[in-house]
Amino acid sequence: MLELRDVSAGYRGKTVVSGVSVSIPRGSWLAIIGPNGAGKSTLLKSIAGLVSYSGSVLLDGRPVQDLSARERAQALGYAPQVPLLPEGLSVTSYALLGRTPHLGTLSREGPHDLAVVDQVLARLDLSSLAGRLLRTLSGGERQRAVLARVLAQQAGVLLLDEPTTGLDIGHAQALLDLVDRLRTEDGTTVISTLHDLTLAGQYADRLLLLDRGTVVASGDASSVLDASVLAQHYCARLVVMEGPDGKPVVVPKRRPIE
Ligand code: ADP
Ligand code: MG
Repeated sequence: MLELRDVSAGYRGKTVVSGVSVSIPRGSWLAIIGPNGAGKSTLLKSIAGLVSYSGSVLLDGRPVQDLSARERAQALGYAPQVPLLPEGLSVTSYALLGRTPHLGTLSREGPHDLAVVDQVLARLDLSSLAGRLLRTLSGGERQRAVLARVLAQQAGVLLLDEPTTGLDIGHAQALLDLVDRLRTEDGTTVISTLHDLTLAGQYADRLLLLDRGTVVASGDASSVLDASVLAQHYCARLVVMEGPDGKPVVVPKRRPIE
């Protein structure tokens, strides 16, 4: 169980996330949504320990700040929205970096680590690119390589910042299905930001809508994906319809032609 208590964070004295409290049970999926600049990435970075914050982030009752760097890396896997990639590494070598927290001091990756990476690459449709250098990949392929690294880490909590950015609908779905499988099979806890509201509603158990750093709505998809709430916070014209699985589908409406 991951718990945020009154978490606030910001940069050089400017608060961009204020007073966020939420409990995320083991094996559940929380989607953080909200307009550009709302503080979604900052909140995720706070949980990952990459931005300083006030309040507390507790993992099974223990403050995450008290964990050693290695313990933290075993517990929390973070995939940034805009990663800086070591362009000269192959996809396999890069994904193997995710195994670092599991290796002993000075020890090298073993067959088990390679097997984990091979399996992750296969599940992300990256096997045929395993030997390619990162600098030669397309945007969507790079995005999947970043996810391969974090999935190879096999952390109990996955923090994914806009994991489907740049992915086509098929690869986005395959990725979210894979994360969903880890959640149900291994009890992995997932916290992700997702700009696609319909996908957020399909995969997350709970949505947290941030606007200007504060939580303005929180709950299941049908309560948070409300047309008037979304219209107000995103400044958008949209309708919410019922999808084939009964979950909300958020559809933008074009400006009426005069
Ligand atoms: P979101 O992910 O919801 O789009 P962010 O968390 O990235 O929003 O940003 C929230 C606010 O914090 C924005 O106003 C952004 O400009 C600001 N911000 C983000 N990163 C930094 C930084 N490193 N230094 C200063 N301000 C930042
Ligand atoms: Mg962001």
